[in-house]
Amino acid sequence: MRTQRQVVDYALQRRALLAQVYAGRVGTMEVCDANPYLLRAAKFHGEPSEVTCPVCRKEPVTTVSWVYGDELKHASGSARAPEELARMANLFEEFTVYVVEVCRTCGWNHLVLSYVLGSGGLDTPKTRRRTAAE
Ligand SMILES: [Zn+2]
Repeated sequence: MRTQRQVVDYALQRRALLAQVYAGRVGTMEVCDANPYLLRAAKFHGEPSEVTCPVCRKEPVTTVSWVYGDELKHASGSARAPEELARMANLFEEFTVYVVEVCRTCGWNHLVLSYVLGSGGLDTPKTRRRTAAE
């Protein structure tokens, strides 16, 4: 999405945790603890990914985007489909999106990415055009 900013990638933390799991230092019960709410969100608002579940390797993980922000009021803390995120990015100045991957087979779940969306803080097209013309 073109208004994404303050992107934080959690790939390192994910890899470190998985290394612990593969080494047997962290049990799969501890990391495959997706709660019913998350599984339900994955079913209704999730997007299929091309990443195979790193724990059970039975199916690709589903990614779920959670939105947080004061401006969102009651909608803060809910899961949203990609098309809704695009619409919300135009409606609100600023809100944070947390992308979580979840395996609907074994319950593995981990934060993958977070970023800020919204219409606030962007250069207006007019400013950019003037700069380009000079
Ligand atoms: Zn799995």
